[in-house]
Amino acid sequence: MPQEVLTDLDAIERLATKHDNENLEFRAFVKGRLGWSDRRLNQVVRETTDGVWSKIDCTACANCCRVLDVVVTDEDIGRLAKPLNISVPEFEALYVIVDAENDKLLKGKPCPFLKDNRCSVYDHRPQTCRSYPHLYEDFRPRTLQYVDSAHFCPIVFNVLERLKRRIPWRGRGRGW
Ligand code: SF4
Ligand code: SF4
Repeated sequence: MPQEVLTDLDAIERLATKHDNENLEFRAFVKGRLGWSDRRLNQVVRETTDGVWSKIDCTACANCCRVLDVVVTDEDIGRLAKPLNISVPEFEALYVIVDAENDKLLKGKPCPFLKDNRCSVYDHRPQTCRSYPHLYEDFRPRTLQYVDSAHFCPIVFNVLERLKRRIPWRGRGRGW
């Protein structure tokens, strides 16, 4: 029987909050006690992500574009400024702020390039947008980020729920 995928953003926020402690326990287990190699773990996460992502339409969601701080590199800024026909300093004045850690971020939430729930600069979007929610990268170093992203990203929420059922650990997944 195909596994259910939850996409309702309010329900996801509510359940992720309810599961926070369990997710943090699972995170600690995966980081410190799960005896799998990174390669094996990443493979299981990728398979799980493929299964979830095939059932979720990011263009209908775009929640990450509404809630995340988007870090931009100088390379991102150069790529974004060009099609807008403005200089890098003009782009930075219009669209960039610098945070306390000296990181450059796109100004404002939702992202200024989100139009009608779509990315208006899709072909030129920042690198972090291309790889979000980072589930095809090394899993262990990012576990805390996934616990946080589970509150607003349906893909991460559902992947975490499935992983808790798939990986043998003390807490096991409790389901919804
Ligand atoms: S990555 Fe997650 S939050 Fe972003 S659009 Fe896709 S499902 Fe929604
Ligand atoms: S640049 Fe595009 S993909 Fe990235 S946050 Fe903004 S709207 Fe979303």
